[in-house]
Amino acid sequence: MAETNAYRGPRPTLYETSRPGARCLRCPPASVEGIDAVELFGPYARTTPAALPEVSEIEIMRHYAHLAAMNFGVDTGSYPLGSCTMKYNPRINEWAARLSGFANIHPAQPDSTLQGALALIHELQKDLSEIAGLPGVSLQPAAGAHGEYTALMVFRAALKARGDARRKVIIPDTAHGTNPASVIMAGYEVVTIPSTTEGLVDLEALKEALDSDTAAFMLTNPNTVGIFDPQILEITAAVHEVGAFAYCDGANLNAILGITRPGDLGFDALHINLHKTFSSPHGGGGPGAGPLCVSAELAPYLPGPVVACDEEGVFHRVTPEKSIGRVRTYLGNFGVLVRAYAYIRSNGAEGLRAVAEQAVISANYLRVTLGEILPVAYDRHCMHEFVLSAARLKSEEGVTALDIAKRLLDYGFHPPTIYFPLIVAEALMIEPTETEPVAVLDALAEAFSNIVEEAKTDPDLLRQAPLSTPVRRLDEVSAARSPHLRVIQTFCS
Ligand SMILES: *Cc1c(COP(=O)(O)O)cnc(C)c1O
Repeated sequence: MAETNAYRGPRPTLYETSRPGARCLRCPPASVEGIDAVELFGPYARTTPAALPEVSEIEIMRHYAHLAAMNFGVDTGSYPLGSCTMKYNPRINEWAARLSGFANIHPAQPDSTLQGALALIHELQKDLSEIAGLPGVSLQPAAGAHGEYTALMVFRAALKARGDARRKVIIPDTAHGTNPASVIMAGYEVVTIPSTTEGLVDLEALKEALDSDTAAFMLTNPNTVGIFDPQILEITAAVHEVGAFAYCDGANLNAILGITRPGDLGFDALHINLHKTFSSPHGGGGPGAGPLCVSAELAPYLPGPVVACDEEGVFHRVTPEKSIGRVRTYLGNFGVLVRAYAYIRSNGAEGLRAVAEQAVISANYLRVTLGEILPVAYDRHCMHEFVLSAARLKSEEGVTALDIAKRLLDYGFHPPTIYFPLIVAEALMIEPTETEPVAVLDALAEAFSNIVEEAKTDPDLLRQAPLSTPVRRLDEVSAARSPHLRVIQTFCS
């Protein structure tokens, strides 16, 4: 069994190790030409020092190194979290994002002093437009869900300009939870249609649901069971026939990158998760980016600013003519945009296509090897991911998808996505990504095989897993609904 981390028991917090007078460094007194900086604040200067921990530099280093070792990340082990595309984040991206000319600029500087950064934005807009097959791009949205919401607001504005208020947005039952949430946030009604027994869009059900009150149809293609819908041209044509927009949830772009383009499939809009397909680190709610790519008809409605280049080759931030307004400050999460650009340039067109090909090959390799251990839902050639079902194991041994997921942690693997998509009972959704070596895929298959064996011989062990992690089974519902924010209270008091 793999050593998952260097955890060696609980340690005190920095507040508990605080010793009066301990310091990392001593700053000279803050003064400018004899003026005491504190005096500048007058009555607003605090009279008692902030209640911050007092520790030496080595204590801080060890504290955070210890916390980092307690965590699981793509740098510590394989992370086959379906739909999330937890691929390795190449270090060249980090190098680029930290270049002083990118890291130390301020977005409120005049455009004339930001030409390099604006040039990068302009290039990235063009690259994503080429990859998407759609001419208009806004890099503003900060996440995939934000891109979905922005697209729906753009649809609303374009429909309004046609004098055509519509109320409904149709989504299939395989959709990611953010799709219906974005629809509600944008003030539309959700209409859900069922999938076929093969996990595809039920074209008849779609045609029945489409009418003159339909604003859009949102589709993830390849979808969340890892299948590319071959009826796609018929689907987008049917959507356009009633005057609605076809939206592509591009979170699964990793599977088709450089092979086909959502614009060529008839989609009017697409969001791209730069923090999935384009290798920016994610998880834990850190910064991401969900650029929105749209057709020529929709481009004038994009949120501003976008970057344009004039005849003299000078870059400017401009607001599209009929813009829906701002959805975020400045130009979005700039550091993420730099990483995505570095990734695109370091791979090149052929490299990006190879990413998709390798992602699909790796997923199919695992689908076949794991398929001998647990049944695959929709067992056919998949794209970048596939879904296993533990339903039979549950009825025979009383072991659930959750138990398997937790036990995988003891074998050194991050668990896959579980209980999603909702249409598969006891779902385990696996996406290896292109960056895992074949030996790791084999080790994952071996871990699954051992766990299924354990389910038969020692099911209680699985119900108690994980056994080797800093924390065991968490009450995830309470953690989300009634979080304990004691540390924050300590800071404030
Ligand atoms: C991740 C994901 C989203 C949402 O993207 P965020 O960046 O997490 O907001 C939407 N749809 C699918 C299919 C996803 O996998």
